[in-house]
Amino acid sequence: MAAAVELATKNVPVTVFEAAQTLGGRARRVVSHGAKLDNGLHILIGAYSETSRMIRHVRSADQPQDLLRLPLQLQVEPSFRMRTWPLPAPLHVGAALLFASGLNWPEKMATARFMRNMGSRNFRCEAGTTVATLLREHRQPQSIIEYLWYPLCVSALNTNPEQADAQVFLNVLRDSLAGPRGSSDLLLPQVDFSALFPEPAAELVRGRGGQVRLGETVTSLQARDKGFDITATSTERFSDVIVAVAPHRLAHIVGHIPQLAPQLDLVRQFEYQPIYSVFLQYPQPVTLPAPMIGMRDSLVQWVFDRGTLCGQPGMMGVVISASGPHQSLTRDDLADQVHRQLAERFSLPEPEWTQVIAEKRATFACSPDLRRPANVTPVAGLLLAGDYTESPYPATLEAAVRSGSQCARLIAEGCA
Ligand SMILES: Cc1cc2nc3c(=O)[nH]c(=O)nc-3n(C[C@H](O)[C@H](O)[C@H](O)COP(=O)(O)OP(=O)(O)OC[C@H]3O[C@@H](n4cnc5c(N)ncnc54)[C@H](O)[C@@H]3O)c2cc1C
Repeated sequence: MAAAVELATKNVPVTVFEAAQTLGGRARRVVSHGAKLDNGLHILIGAYSETSRMIRHVRSADQPQDLLRLPLQLQVEPSFRMRTWPLPAPLHVGAALLFASGLNWPEKMATARFMRNMGSRNFRCEAGTTVATLLREHRQPQSIIEYLWYPLCVSALNTNPEQADAQVFLNVLRDSLAGPRGSSDLLLPQVDFSALFPEPAAELVRGRGGQVRLGETVTSLQARDKGFDITATSTERFSDVIVAVAPHRLAHIVGHIPQLAPQLDLVRQFEYQPIYSVFLQYPQPVTLPAPMIGMRDSLVQWVFDRGTLCGQPGMMGVVISASGPHQSLTRDDLADQVHRQLAERFSLPEPEWTQVIAEKRATFACSPDLRRPANVTPVAGLLLAGDYTESPYPATLEAAVRSGSQCARLIAEGCA
């Protein structure tokens, strides 16, 4: 949809084929028990500049912004609290660390030293290093690892630190904690994800004469002398094509095109990591002390109070990123254990209902030395977009949006 918006804005006629009935892909609305949920709970950070720009671009000025922007405030139970201060960068993060609770003085100094050392190396590390190794090499104390670095790594890279690529982690730190003041802000959606971006994006595309066709699965893509034949409900000719499916679906669409063998080989090397989202509807007056709270030593990594955020009183959304022992539980047992751990910490009553959404292939595993395909392919006019294409970022909305925008620019400039 980012590619479509970018092209439509340049008055290039565009047709989007979407297999599902709801726009948004992995970040889409799911309705359960009459409530609008998300396929996965998503957060954005201020550094995700292209995603924020796109959201602002497609939403008309009279619509409420629907993204709650908060200075970074991390509350990780049982005792860690840290929030950035209204000071110029980097003092805003320095003060956050200085006044953080749950860490002693040597732990704070070790964290500051790590950030300074990384800054002096332009946030570069040796290729092939994992996040766990990087933190060990820089003698990060266990408490700061458990309260700060591990939660940041798992939520940004969706990969456990023992397996996660330190360079990608450093790219995220460079652009968030070490970036300009607003870069570390949290942007928490106040509506479901389909309503936040892809639906207003589709309105913009249609308003500029383009088409967004829901429930139309592309079953064949054939390169012709001039352009491409695409078959969904019928076969139509297009001058250029952006294939914007998740990486594990790529071979279904372009697997028969011999020139794309190198791209497909790269994608075949990918391993995938799950994300589980657990929604719990409590009797209405229940709220949490903050809209987003982390939990150490718990199945629950982050819990979001969707009452405060999305006007859904009593609804809690829990995220469990990356692989772990929770994958062996049944959905009922997982929801039950999540509820017990929340109830123990926040004294909650029994939920009225729960819903577990397990995305087994939520993102690729962001491992060291992973090679990702470029947007441009050897077939002129055929581009690849998505969170898995070449990017300094892990599989995130920002990586996907930047990838889509870049494909659109290449087509508009005749460089595809
Ligand atoms: C549970 C979960 C939580 C996440 N949390 C975060 C987060 O907090 N922050 C963050 O930045 N990122 C998060 N992510 C990652 C983020 O959702 C993805 O990086 C992003 O949505 C990828 O977008 P994409 O366009 O590359 O692919 P997708 O979203 O997978 O879109 C691909 C689209 O292609 C369509 N399609 C497939 N085959 C065909 C076909 N043959 N014909 C027509 N259409 C087809 C699909 O229906 C789908 O809509 C999360 C992901 C999950 C699953």
